[in-house]
Amino acid sequence: MQISSNVLDLPSFNFYKMKIFNTREEVSNFISSAKATNNTIGYVPTMGALHQGHASLIQQSVSENNITFVSIFVNPTQFDNSSDLDKYPRSLENDTQLIKEIDSNIIIFAPTAKELYQGNINSKSYSFDGLEHEMEGKHRAGHFDGVGTVLDLFFTLIAPTNAYFGEKDFQQLQIVKKLVSKYQLGVNIVGCKIFRESSGLAMSSRNERLSDTAKKEAAFINKILLDAKKQFDTKSAMKVEKWVANQFAKNNQFNLEYVSIANIKTLKPVKRKSKKQQYRIFIAAFIDNIRLIDNIALN
Ligand code: AMP
Repeated sequence: MQISSNVLDLPSFNFYKMKIFNTREEVSNFISSAKATNNTIGYVPTMGALHQGHASLIQQSVSENNITFVSIFVNPTQFDNSSDLDKYPRSLENDTQLIKEIDSNIIIFAPTAKELYQGNINSKSYSFDGLEHEMEGKHRAGHFDGVGTVLDLFFTLIAPTNAYFGEKDFQQLQIVKKLVSKYQLGVNIVGCKIFRESSGLAMSSRNERLSDTAKKEAAFINKILLDAKKQFDTKSAMKVEKWVANQFAKNNQFNLEYVSIANIKTLKPVKRKSKKQQYRIFIAAFIDNIRLIDNIALN
């Protein structure tokens, strides 16, 4: 059992039923009691429609902390497209079941936007030292201000010891590390490997919107990434990017939004390769109007 006996004494804790908080007050009351008895708190922020990728983060948190919080919140301020926000899959009941199967002691926090933002549903503006201007930042206006704002709110409220983020959103992971160090939020950020379908397709809540045929075709993204990795051993970043763009141009199921081979620290495109630096290749592409992203390490 991962949970310390102190936690079982907390007034609002119920061992047999899932604990779902909807208000900031419930969270702060719980956190003050938990912190008073020196529990470590693991936190996994999610937008719900949970899958095995999320589950792997939650399992890691459970194994490394006394208490695990999972937030389920589709954050309006990080969407630049209202139709994407409206169509984002929501399934709180299934999510609760999946979390319960991992560990029924996990605490779910599922606030409304009005509650979390205390009525002021707007982004603050952040500088992440240029990380926010690359890739997703170029194509999703205001996205990382929204991510920064919501995580600032969650981190302040939950005050986690450790917070878990997937490499699936690698740029987000680097930005969260920057947020925490720059604004001294005192949270240890843990990066977790990408969880994939057996076809290689990176698991994503957005995959739920794909038809069976599109889901099969979407495995193409990972296949191209793996081929690109092989080519990167001998070819320049620019040549590999061009090759990737050509493969997508030949495949009429997809619309490639961007391909970038970038330094993992600066997220800037590679001009000249150096053995001392680490690189990843990043792709965003649409299939059936659904936007998918993926990335892999190149060296
Ligand atoms: P989301 O609900 O899409 O905002 O994702 C919540 C967290 O789960 C983020 O840190 C994601 O990077 C992570 N995540 C999403 N999909 C995967 C996956 N396939 N493998 C690992 N982590 C993932």
